[in-house]
Amino acid sequence: MLTKKIQQASIDKVETYFERAENIVIVTHVSPDGDAIGSSLGLYHFLTGQEKNVHIVVPNAFPDFLRWMSGAKDIIRYDKDAELADKLIAEADVICCLDFNALSRIDAVAKPVAASQGRKVMIDHHLNPEPFCKVTISHPEISSTCELVFRVICRLGCFDDITREGAECIYAGMMTDTGGFTYNSNDREIYFIISQLLSKGIDKDEIYRKVFNTYSQDRLRLMGYVLYEKMQVLPQFRTALICLTQKEQNRFNSVKGDTEGFVNIPLQIQNICFSVFLREDAEKKMIKVSLRSVGDFPCNKVAAEFFNGGGHKNASGGEFWGTMDEAVEVFKRAVVKYEELLLKN
Ligand code: 5GP
Ligand code: MN
Repeated sequence: MLTKKIQQASIDKVETYFERAENIVIVTHVSPDGDAIGSSLGLYHFLTGQEKNVHIVVPNAFPDFLRWMSGAKDIIRYDKDAELADKLIAEADVICCLDFNALSRIDAVAKPVAASQGRKVMIDHHLNPEPFCKVTISHPEISSTCELVFRVICRLGCFDDITREGAECIYAGMMTDTGGFTYNSNDREIYFIISQLLSKGIDKDEIYRKVFNTYSQDRLRLMGYVLYEKMQVLPQFRTALICLTQKEQNRFNSVKGDTEGFVNIPLQIQNICFSVFLREDAEKKMIKVSLRSVGDFPCNKVAAEFFNGGGHKNASGGEFWGTMDEAVEVFKRAVVKYEELLLKN
């Protein structure tokens, strides 16, 4: 059995909002990941089954390895179809904000969402949610937004309405946000939920292959290059750093999502507890920063303090506006400042 982690008052409000709504829009964060797309589609399948008119709007592209999910082709990209998205958001009775805690995380979609009269419901697991929603279901102790979506649907008394397609999307996000259940995944209720999802007929092994084993040859060669040539290990700080320029990404025909997961690899080295990946994004004219840690080291603090970002204790990110050399300088300042915490972790 699942414990009742979500407040009853929130569930009651969501129930009323959904009941009264005809048009519902689901929005999720920029550069959506498996949990963002999985939770959006999981909720989409449920609400569509309740005869609602549902649309998902994302700020920009999502990786190819999430395209297999049922309903993915109907997702509206704001960077491509702003006019349609603006209309849907303005006309929405309810706007579900999934897997993000601040309007700044949805880039240009923030403006129409803030302006819309639609009732906003946040379902998210990032720390410190901003108060822009009528209902805020925020649970940083829960490892994925997908798990929260599953819990919301169950609390609405609608477990039976979850389809195999919906269950696949929910499972995929739970799996990706825990690195295939290798971190943030000691809560035994996760495995109860998995067994419930399996009862819907999902093939979890196939989902794993579809998400993690569909890389291009280019991506694997880029990974080889990154690990051999680019990874710097700073054992004195128990830290590793990878910097990747746009030119290097072009050399390996890198496409969106190709560098996904690189930041986790250095944590396989004994005694390394902090990994930083700096990737130049020429299009956005910035350095995308990814941070990972093991144990108690709070990489979200480093992200917030040094890289205009945030996230979870063990997985965070941010953005840096400047050159790669400048970003590396900031990184060095960060590890020096956090040396004590790194060493005692
Ligand atoms: P990733 O390294 O996979 O891009 O991001 C890991 C996590 O860090 C995300 O799930 C998200 O919580 C957080 N994150 C990534 N980029 C940003 C950012 O630019 N700003 C904030 N506030 N959080 C971010
Ligand atoms: Mn998430």
